[in-house]
Amino acid sequence: MHAPGDIRVEELSDPSIQEPTDAVLRLSATCVCGSDLWRYRGEDAFSSPQHMGHEYVGVVEEIGSAVTTLRPGDVVVGSFFASDNTCEICRAGYQTSCVHRQLMSGAQSELLRVPLADGTLVAVEGTPDDTQLRGLLAASDVFGTGWFGARAAQVGPGSTVVVVGDGAVGLLAVLSAKLMGAERIIAMSRHAARQEIAREFGATDIVAERGEEGVELVREMTGGLGAPSVIEAVGTQAAMSQAFRVTRAGGHLGFVGVSHGVTFEGRDLFMSHVHLHGGPAPVRDYLPDLTSRIMAKEINPGRVFDLDLPLAEAAEAYRAMDERRAVKALLRPSAP
Ligand SMILES: [Zn+2]
Repeated sequence: MHAPGDIRVEELSDPSIQEPTDAVLRLSATCVCGSDLWRYRGEDAFSSPQHMGHEYVGVVEEIGSAVTTLRPGDVVVGSFFASDNTCEICRAGYQTSCVHRQLMSGAQSELLRVPLADGTLVAVEGTPDDTQLRGLLAASDVFGTGWFGARAAQVGPGSTVVVVGDGAVGLLAVLSAKLMGAERIIAMSRHAARQEIAREFGATDIVAERGEEGVELVREMTGGLGAPSVIEAVGTQAAMSQAFRVTRAGGHLGFVGVSHGVTFEGRDLFMSHVHLHGGPAPVRDYLPDLTSRIMAKEINPGRVFDLDLPLAEAAEAYRAMDERRAVKALLRPSAP
């Protein structure tokens, strides 16, 4: 990205092993993230050209001398933060706050250097077919993020859940809630195509209304109290306010949309008795479980990719997502 709205595919030098704990991957699939759009739209600070992308599935091409759990040829998935997976914070299940964490970028590419490879990457059994590959790519970020949202919202067997946001993360939060045993899943969405995916993933109710009207409707549907579990998957003030106002007293609100200008009035929080938990999802913690379910073909989270393009057409992938013509665009690097 050379500037907001200016995406170019360019030839850079190949990444190589820099630290003994690195691996270099040849990517099988990558994609554009909803969070990339903040920068694309000029809503995040932008100072110099950036190599974009932090979602990836690939084949290990080369490993550093200290890497012990991977070998060339392994099919691996990682997440948007590299983490050692051994420090105290990682062991507590918050790998995205690892004391050695490194933010990944440059995955919209043919090759990718991954630091802390033993801690970051999870190898899958077997060779994924195209459906499995798409699922694994979803697990790399959006599925893991939706999963964290549902966990943070304390979803469990029999839960009533509200999901605010119908992007890939919101849709996959619906699937996550379903897999965790939720009984009633209310998805807030105005778009027919996205409502359809939400229903496929397990939504029992769709609320198309927004703002005051949407809040009132959800409260009516939940006995006037609001829901015990709510997932916010957008990051705007409007979405967070909506999510907060449909969470019942004592309920749990999991927020996984990257916050942009979201504020709370302390007194409202104080009076609400709402538990708030969220942040960058510790996707690494969930990858072994999610990738096994995908390889066993129990689930199809890759359903959220509704546009496939060669990497060379990355600019169109951004445009399509920006204009909401696509939920999520998958990019295929060219064959080696
Ligand atoms: Zn760590």
